[in-house]
Amino acid sequence: IDSSSLFGSLFEAPAVTRVVPVLVPLPVPVAYSYAVPEGVHVEPGSLVQVPIGPRQVIGVVWEGDNDEKLDPKKLRPITLVFDCPPLSKEMRDFIDWVASYTLSPPGLVARMAIRAPAALDPEAMVEGLRYIGGQPERMTPARTRVLDLAKTQDHPWTRSGLAHAANVSSSVVDGLTAQGVFETIFLPPPPVVARPDPDFTPPRLEGPQKQAAQDIVSAVHKGGFSAALIDGVTGSGKTEVYFEAIAESLRQGRQVLILLPEIALTPAFLERFEARFGAKPAEWHSDLAPRMREKVWRGVVTGEVRVVAGARSALFLPFEQLGLIVVDEEHDPAYKQEDRVFYNARDMAVVRGRIGDFPVVLVSATPSVESQVNGLAGRYNTVHLPTRFGEAALPDLHLVDMRRHPPERGGFLSPVLLRGIKRTIEKGEQALLFLNRRGYAPLTLCRVCGHRFQCPQCSSWLVEHRFRSQIQCHQCGYAERTPEACPDCGTLDHLVACGPGVERIAEEVEKHFPQARTIVMSSDMLGGVKRMRLELEAIAKGDVDIVIGTQLVAKGHNFPLMTLVGIVDADLGLSNGDPRAAERTFQLLSQVTGRAGRTGLKSLGLIQTFQPQHPVMQAIVSGDAPAFYEREIEERQKAILPPFGRLASLIVSADTRAEAETHARGLRAAAPSVTGISVLGPAEAPLALVRGRHRFRLLVHGRRNCDMQGFLKAMIAQGPKAKSSVQIQLDVDPQSF
Ligand code: ADP
Ligand code: ZN
Repeated sequence: IDSSSLFGSLFEAPAVTRVVPVLVPLPVPVAYSYAVPEGVHVEPGSLVQVPIGPRQVIGVVWEGDNDEKLDPKKLRPITLVFDCPPLSKEMRDFIDWVASYTLSPPGLVARMAIRAPAALDPEAMVEGLRYIGGQPERMTPARTRVLDLAKTQDHPWTRSGLAHAANVSSSVVDGLTAQGVFETIFLPPPPVVARPDPDFTPPRLEGPQKQAAQDIVSAVHKGGFSAALIDGVTGSGKTEVYFEAIAESLRQGRQVLILLPEIALTPAFLERFEARFGAKPAEWHSDLAPRMREKVWRGVVTGEVRVVAGARSALFLPFEQLGLIVVDEEHDPAYKQEDRVFYNARDMAVVRGRIGDFPVVLVSATPSVESQVNGLAGRYNTVHLPTRFGEAALPDLHLVDMRRHPPERGGFLSPVLLRGIKRTIEKGEQALLFLNRRGYAPLTLCRVCGHRFQCPQCSSWLVEHRFRSQIQCHQCGYAERTPEACPDCGTLDHLVACGPGVERIAEEVEKHFPQARTIVMSSDMLGGVKRMRLELEAIAKGDVDIVIGTQLVAKGHNFPLMTLVGIVDADLGLSNGDPRAAERTFQLLSQVTGRAGRTGLKSLGLIQTFQPQHPVMQAIVSGDAPAFYEREIEERQKAILPPFGRLASLIVSADTRAEAETHARGLRAAAPSVTGISVLGPAEAPLALVRGRHRFRLLVHGRRNCDMQGFLKAMIAQGPKAKSSVQIQLDVDPQSF
């Protein structure tokens, strides 16, 4: 809808008074200047609608001093001011900080914090009346009562609410509205969220939980910025511990943000929160219905919503009075956004806590090397929970050396694992087979001519998805029907699938266990998030015997009957040349095997590998995480890799390979010479072609305290002028390098 109409004639042919800078949601480096119509009040942080060319966009009034010389009459005026509290100074500082750290346009960062509060579909809105002053031509006692009452309240009235309060019929109110004493505005419905109660059902903490909770609660009680790391094995009671910190923050009347990597898929978390606090937290993630987003956003801004459980994007919600952020599974790669603004929500959560002067709690069973080092250096207060809570024990973990226990021809599951599955389901328990690869097979080729199916727009193979009868590109989403004949040599029925994906493992499982109730869980599941949630519930209830899944099932779930976890290919991900590969594999394998044995039942993890001597495999079976991390940290330190050094990646993309390479070389030549910073490349990016765009990468490496942002800015400013066909993607602190 055209939201400017809501404010009607307010700004028709406005007389303008002054000029303000407005951040617009576009990739431009600075705020734009707009005139403020007479009688309109805006301040830094106000949400406004402004024209850009023929369009209207939402922006935020920003601070700036360069606008005094501009003549307001020559500028386009703000078209409307949204009826919601302005972004706080804290929020504006945070946006500025993130923009300058990630070298992103500030408008794009601000965009993540704002919604258009009036751009709701009219049905979702309730009509409200605002008193604007003046007198009707004719006064009556009833009208006087209404006006006397209206003057006492600033925020809008509903029509019936006002009539009721003034003890008049609604037609009296309508009469006054027709006379222009009230203006009609539209309000979103009030959020219907119950307030969590910090003392609803407090648990009795036991053993190391007690001390851990005490430490963290006292940091919240004291107030001010601090960062803590809860490092405890899966099932050790970390959640109960941070719930205590949340309770304390609620007692202080502050809002709380809990970040979770897969909130859309963990409804069980919301229920658990409700059991502890008597009310669910508000959810925030990309699968939320637009109307719900609007409600939650409003509730967060006004302070009505006390606790939000959200995905990384929730970090940019403009809370009225945020007092605590918890980052659960802080090591999870899902916290990194690699789109438009490249940021890591874990790191930026700590920044937000520092700017807002409140505590931040990071939580993980396998903390990132970064957080471990911060703990060792005393920047974070680390608390440990070394054992599972209560009767539950960690699963017994064994490596299956695939060279000694090969699967039968055409299969991927070793006899050892198959026997394990058989015993598990005979006992009425559940098995999870984990393989981090969607689809049926990662590569399809022609047995006759050797043709491989490649994406026409990307440098990646097409992955066969048998459920959908398609071959798909996992980079760009390109898909075509699985062909029957080779497009090169024309031979029929000689296409072979190479390697396994989860669908292929399911086929093998069905062959061996035709009676078992089997399900494949991956993010491309037909039926989307709704269906996934239902299936996860079915697993938790015991309605499934064998689950074959990608990392979707690895995160945060509590399946009471799951007693066997089989890792189909533990080596996957170890050989991609990424120095973080060992850390990531260790984290993923710990997390997946941690799904087993959550209750008192004895449980087992079988890890299929071709490299049983690999330090990651040894660390997993020995359970000696400290030794593993010590080695990782030592190696990073030696190579001056993060967090002991700094990295940034610049990906230059263009329509032709030559153009991309030339531009990347130009950038490299423009790099200033600074001691302690060096530039590697350009080389073809790990994905050299994506959506038809050729990509070259430069890696910038610097010492820990170098001015990385200054260096990058200088390099780009002095580099070749980018033609519109050339794009530069900047990633400060890239995930993989
Ligand atoms: P983590 O977050 O470390 O994986 P959880 O907090 O989920 O561990 O705890 C594991 C299980 O133990 C959960 O079912 C939880 O309800 C239970 N639990 C943990 N601490 C307590 C406690 N103090 N009293 C009762 N149950 C607890
Ligand atoms: Zn593609």
